[in-house]
Amino acid sequence: MSALVIRNPEAPALEVRGLKKHYSAIEAVRGIDLKVERGEIFGFLGPNGAGKTTTIRTLVGLLQPTAGDIFLGGFSLKDDPVEAKSIVGFIPDRPFLYEKLTGREFLRFIAGLYRVYDDEPETLEERIEELLRFFQLEEWGDELVEAYSHGMKQRLVMSSALLHDPEIIIVDEPMVGLDPRGARLLKNLFKERVRGGGSIFMSTHTLAVAEELCDRIAIIQEGELIAEGTLQELRIRAGMGDDEAARLEAVFLKLTTDEEMIDVVDAIRG
Ligand code: ATP
Repeated sequence: MSALVIRNPEAPALEVRGLKKHYSAIEAVRGIDLKVERGEIFGFLGPNGAGKTTTIRTLVGLLQPTAGDIFLGGFSLKDDPVEAKSIVGFIPDRPFLYEKLTGREFLRFIAGLYRVYDDEPETLEERIEELLRFFQLEEWGDELVEAYSHGMKQRLVMSSALLHDPEIIIVDEPMVGLDPRGARLLKNLFKERVRGGGSIFMSTHTLAVAEELCDRIAIIQEGELIAEGTLQELRIRAGMGDDEAARLEAVFLKLTTDEEMIDVVDAIRG
């Protein structure tokens, strides 16, 4: 795919300062700070209800934070929302698609909404074909979206999020619904993007994926970050620093549950 253009290479890909989001009395996110560097795949983990989706929706400007500042590629989401959003590709966990459009029509429609290649219709068509090919949807491009399987819809949404070649991809649960081939395709895409200077922020419950892909990981629990770092740093934080073989799953359980619970989980697994 084409080379990635980074607007403010000296700025971190993502910076979050003192982010809070309350839904009336529910304090879903209670003041978190985060920094994602360029060329990094950053994993955002946490138990159900911890505040992952809420955080992600504020990062992409879909939810207004209660407090705090968000900078995307050096642009303030508050002061410079159009620039900030223009360099991000967002892949939600439950994508919305227009079922009565074909795949190609959907991509043209999204490009029109975001004014991508507005004055370059030929470049747009090339980009659409490039993405359909990459996501192995080429032969389905003229079929109605309603005929697509769940995994194909996921791949179409990913294509739409990449139309404008974003510097930062923010993705909520990327692997859900993808078959092993689709999952491999996506992992390769993420790796290729970061090699080119792009950055990925992803939430996931699939710890094996986080372990394989992420350079650094943050764990959120009850709206607060309880740990952040490389897998080895998280091992140390969990008191498992001398166990190089400790998998992320064990580290995650240790950090997010009490000892008693881990014993119960171990006993169930035999
Ligand atoms: P999961 O892993 O289950 O998807 P999550 O980490 O993404 O969870 P969130 O969906 O961000 O967690 O939810 C965080 C908290 O905020 C939960 O207590 C949830 O019930 C609450 N919450 C989320 N959305 C809303 C909403 N629109 N109105 C009120 N409360 C909400």
